[in-house]
Amino acid sequence: MVNPLISDRDVDFLLYEVFDAPALCSLPAFADHGRPTFDLVLQNSRRFAREVLFPTYKAMDAEPPRLENGRIVLHPLWHKIYPQLVALDVIAASRPYAAGGQQLPLLVTTLASTYLMAGNLNAAGLVGLTAGAAHLIEEFGSDALKQDFMARMYRGEWTGTMALTEPQAGSSLADLKTRATPTGEGHYRIKGSKIFISAGDHNLTDNIVHMTLARIDGAPAGIKGISLFAVPTRRWQGSTLVDNDVAVAGMIHKIGWRGGPSLALEFGERDDCHGWLVGEPGRGLSCMFQMMNEARIMVGANGVSTASVAYHQAVLYARERLQGRPPSVKADASRPPVPIIEHADVRRMLLRQKAIVDGGLALLAVTALQRDLAGHSTTQHERHRAGLLLDLLTPITKTFPAERGFEANALSLQVHGGYGYSSEFLPEAWLRDQKLNSIHEGTTGIQGLDLLGRKAVADGGAALSILTEEIEQAVQKASAAGVFPAACTRLREAMARIAELTMQLAQKGLAGDVEGMLLHSADYLELLSIVVVSWLWLQQATVATQQLGQDQGDADSYQGKLCAAQYWLATELPRVSHLIDLCRSGEDSYARMQPAWF
Ligand SMILES: Cc1cc2nc3c(=O)[nH]c(=O)nc-3n(C[C@H](O)[C@H](O)[C@H](O)COP(=O)(O)OP(=O)(O)OC[C@H]3O[C@@H](n4cnc5c(N)ncnc54)[C@H](O)[C@@H]3O)c2cc1C
Repeated sequence: MVNPLISDRDVDFLLYEVFDAPALCSLPAFADHGRPTFDLVLQNSRRFAREVLFPTYKAMDAEPPRLENGRIVLHPLWHKIYPQLVALDVIAASRPYAAGGQQLPLLVTTLASTYLMAGNLNAAGLVGLTAGAAHLIEEFGSDALKQDFMARMYRGEWTGTMALTEPQAGSSLADLKTRATPTGEGHYRIKGSKIFISAGDHNLTDNIVHMTLARIDGAPAGIKGISLFAVPTRRWQGSTLVDNDVAVAGMIHKIGWRGGPSLALEFGERDDCHGWLVGEPGRGLSCMFQMMNEARIMVGANGVSTASVAYHQAVLYARERLQGRPPSVKADASRPPVPIIEHADVRRMLLRQKAIVDGGLALLAVTALQRDLAGHSTTQHERHRAGLLLDLLTPITKTFPAERGFEANALSLQVHGGYGYSSEFLPEAWLRDQKLNSIHEGTTGIQGLDLLGRKAVADGGAALSILTEEIEQAVQKASAAGVFPAACTRLREAMARIAELTMQLAQKGLAGDVEGMLLHSADYLELLSIVVVSWLWLQQATVATQQLGQDQGDADSYQGKLCAAQYWLATELPRVSHLIDLCRSGEDSYARMQPAWF
């Protein structure tokens, strides 16, 4: 048996049985598509991920990029897979026809991308970054930039990066120092140091466009002084590309994501780095939030994919590895050893992984669906509603797969026993990869602050009310199907208590005690994540129950869903009550703890 990376059955279940992806084709934007197109897109990604990408993963993890004569040299396998990735036409798949895309729903392209990420996350990451960078130019750039940069990026001829972080400005981008000096010739001169820039240099394409945050001379301190620039590694001089004074200052030696480069870059060492303004001056961070929000969902996709490939590897291993006997015949050494999947504790570890992976995949799907509805629904009301729900779900979709995915990845290693602790087997590599997802694109701490400090309280808690409506609908459907009645009651009660809690915390903030309001933002993020994933498990369990009643053909898959739903709702949902109490109590140990007391 080979590792499927992501289960086709689970993806089809979400697309066609839970979320009705073909219904999106009633929207004018997607009218040209239908299930046959969706299946083709999925099929291409599945095949490419399994046959081309996955076989390259271990070699690229073992042999990271090298810095030679100031430039990055990638593993030779990159040169084999990159042209094929470009030919797969995934970079602009969800962009409009006018921008050179295929106008496919994100629900479909996002799930298709999970195969690529599970196969080789560095390769998928490069095209994801390029797509996000080109989309910024598409949305906010001049016609000239669209023609010069965006079109080439969407075609994969050039790649893109996001150049935000500086040594002193990571979580707090307000402190960034890179400068942009107007020249009066249509471009700015860029000068500054960036760090951790993924895919910041390589030898795959002629050029790389860095979407760079910088301050125009004289701009105010803080966020309002930040602008966005497109800064290529090479710039046009007539019809030739010449060096644009973007130098590699160093390479980060990473513990995971080792196949791709993350770099310290120096812009304008020779005062000859040209950058072109994208969007209005001073609006750089708000433009960049488009790419950051997209990237946060892609980080979530990565978390799910990395947990998924490891989970499937653990299932394969547990079916084959013989060890020990069941407790009832343990004393009888004449009995043959059993595959470890026969042991209840191994099944516990596998089921926990499945609950996280399938729950995370559903979370990713519902978030991508809101992006489609927010962008393309026919009424303003529907677009607004989906947009609010999307805003609320984004920090959860960024964080849940990263944090719980790390737990799932650790369980995959554990299922492999001592072999899992060796680099001969892949679970340790995926565990290293997964850790990044709670750090980049805003750490888990920053996501908690964003969720409680902004998303949950915006518009008087409008997004939370929409989530409550959605959960109520799911509870009603589950109740009608007789699915997990105790969990239905718990979910309903949890949402009522969360609304009350959020109001209390918001009032604390309005009264001036912002620190008190946000003290338990990490617990708040955890509790809302559990509730959202419980909602999605309830929906999946309802569909599985209905399908089992009608069609026994796929009984194993539906029974598996029901067991995973039962597991999640029985072990995680009860924790919500405790987390709500904690958030309400204002438990203040770490607020009181002084730096000197550690
Ligand atoms: C492999 C890799 C690839 C990356 N790729 C890119 C890239 O392509 N482009 C790019 O621009 N950046 C990239 N980054 C940078 C990444 O986004 C930052 O590392 C991240 O934003 C955190 O910033 P920092 O490392 O400076 O940590 P810090 O901001 O110093 O955070 C350290 C700790 O303090 C906590 N903390 C910080 N501020 C607060 C606060 N106000 N409240 C509560 N807790 C807080 C954080 O949660 C964290 O736990 C990458 C990083 C890595 C490791």
